[in-house]
Amino acid sequence: MDKRPEILIVDDSKTNRAVLRGIFKQNYELVEAEDGEIAIQVLESHPDIALILLDINMPRMNGYELLAYLQQDSQLSNIPVVIDTEFGDEESELKALKLGAMDFLTKPYNPEIVLHRVQNVMAKLQLEQQHTEQRMNEKQIKELRYQAEHDLMTGIYQRETFYTKTVAMLHANTDIKYMLIQWDIERFKVINDLYGTDVGDAVLIGIARTFDDIVLGIGTYGRLTADNFVCCVPKDRISVEQLLKQFEKSFCRLQLNYQISLYAGVYDIHNIEVPIDQMCDRACLALRTIKGNYMKHYAMYDNKLRETMLEEQYIVSEMQSALEEHQFDIYLQPIYNIASEQVVSAEALVRWHHPDKGMIMPGLFIPLFERNGFITKLDAYVWERTCQYLKKRKTEGKKEIPISVNVSRMNLYNPNFCEDMIALLQKYHLDARALKLEITESAYIDNARQLLETMGKLQEYGFKILTDDFGSGYSSLNMLKDVPADILKIDMKFIDDLEHSDRAGNILTSVIRMAKWLDMSVVAEGVETKRQFEFLRSIECDDVQGYYFSRPLPIDQFEALVD
Ligand code: C2E
Ligand code: CA
Ligand code: CA
Repeated sequence: MDKRPEILIVDDSKTNRAVLRGIFKQNYELVEAEDGEIAIQVLESHPDIALILLDINMPRMNGYELLAYLQQDSQLSNIPVVIDTEFGDEESELKALKLGAMDFLTKPYNPEIVLHRVQNVMAKLQLEQQHTEQRMNEKQIKELRYQAEHDLMTGIYQRETFYTKTVAMLHANTDIKYMLIQWDIERFKVINDLYGTDVGDAVLIGIARTFDDIVLGIGTYGRLTADNFVCCVPKDRISVEQLLKQFEKSFCRLQLNYQISLYAGVYDIHNIEVPIDQMCDRACLALRTIKGNYMKHYAMYDNKLRETMLEEQYIVSEMQSALEEHQFDIYLQPIYNIASEQVVSAEALVRWHHPDKGMIMPGLFIPLFERNGFITKLDAYVWERTCQYLKKRKTEGKKEIPISVNVSRMNLYNPNFCEDMIALLQKYHLDARALKLEITESAYIDNARQLLETMGKLQEYGFKILTDDFGSGYSSLNMLKDVPADILKIDMKFIDDLEHSDRAGNILTSVIRMAKWLDMSVVAEGVETKRQFEFLRSIECDDVQGYYFSRPLPIDQFEALVD
């Protein structure tokens, strides 16, 4: 049962109190006090008092004084006060009203009027309270809805909201041709690592504000994950280049001496009935084809890509059985010493002999396996096969030729990576010198600390480590000094550039000089011409790998070449 509201009657006259009690007792709980001071004590012990009936003339603390006291207390000032005065005493009524009383009763009491006045005061107050609560609720609901619909850091839509708003927009404007664009920042993590998350956040916010400036009102946009954004815009109003340019401008304002690259995948919307998440997937697919590409910053989704996707699905469905059925094979590409022009090493490169499709090159499946994690299984298989071959040469008493294998960065998440590697060598009674490990440059950025630790352990055991693909992406001379690799493997991109630019030659010269200072030897890969070879010789590069000397060879042909 609901508790009845509690009224405090403050009056020094016993008779008055008795009369008031008679009027209210049916509907209210009653407490009484003989003067202001006692009233204060009662208020302390009765926190739920709903209304005070207050006499003005009382000994010790009178009605005005109690009113003044109540007013200066944040809690007590909320309790409505109805004063009772002698009939016609307008002066005290006015004074009491000024002090915060809400209404007054006049003696002698007319029970019905008294009861109604008090009920009215209570009802009015209750209504006011309800209104404030309602207003608060509406505000809270609005806020909660905003929080749920928006990405809190940038203030733009989050994924689900982007989806619903975009679908609504497409259906409301069937005469407009739209395109959906997914955006991704190249190596966003590096920005966070180099400049701190505040700067990383500023980059993301810069993107959101650029959308506000350009897309607001004509299209939709949102943030999907950390550094992934999406927008849907009318094709004849905005171009991808234009957006890219504006994003760059927003990055310039941050004044970092680092080139932030943004990549875009574009899906042209022909049929608005295609589910929105599928549209995003397709834009994303287009995006993936150019990630890390310096020349191209956006790509369109087309049917060829669709085929690629289907092909990828096929590969995924085949990969496990292919591994079990030994369809993967290693080819060896000899590495030559520049001075002696003799084979001093080799790189193991995987090939897939598919029963129906023939030979599949790693470019077609390695990136996919790196994404779906299968690469660790394939790598382990390649290492094992390589060790088997090394062991075979050793037992046959053939010349020792160390072979380097590729270590995909995903292996670095395996906490037992070092132990597994060592166990593999021991299984085939091999020396750590026999197997070199190629770790691609970009892995150094993503796992810096963990990688350095792992490298340290491997090197301690005697493994030689190569920094693969140096110069292909975010490499700097600075990185050279931070990463204690034994051998620097220079990417073909550098070699390619040699023909066209003097600067490439100069940079290469200093990279090699720097590597020498740091006690690393240098292998250049992708060497295809005599000119390239001669140039590399002239700047004291140690070894070369490339079609100029030999393509990757099946093991028997490799044997024939080296023995
Ligand atoms: P990578 O590690 O940079 O390997 C060098 C690639 O350059 C090989 O391509 C090789 O055939 C090619 N190449 C060598 N000399 C020349 C040249 O003179 N000109 C040109 N244009 N290319 C040359 P391949 O065998 O197609 O392998 C491509 C990539 O696939 C490798 O790049 C590596 O990242 C990956 N890969 C290959 N095998 C494995 C593996 O067993 N495990 C992992 N994780 N990755 C592998
Ligand atoms: Ca390699
Ligand atoms: Ca390489």
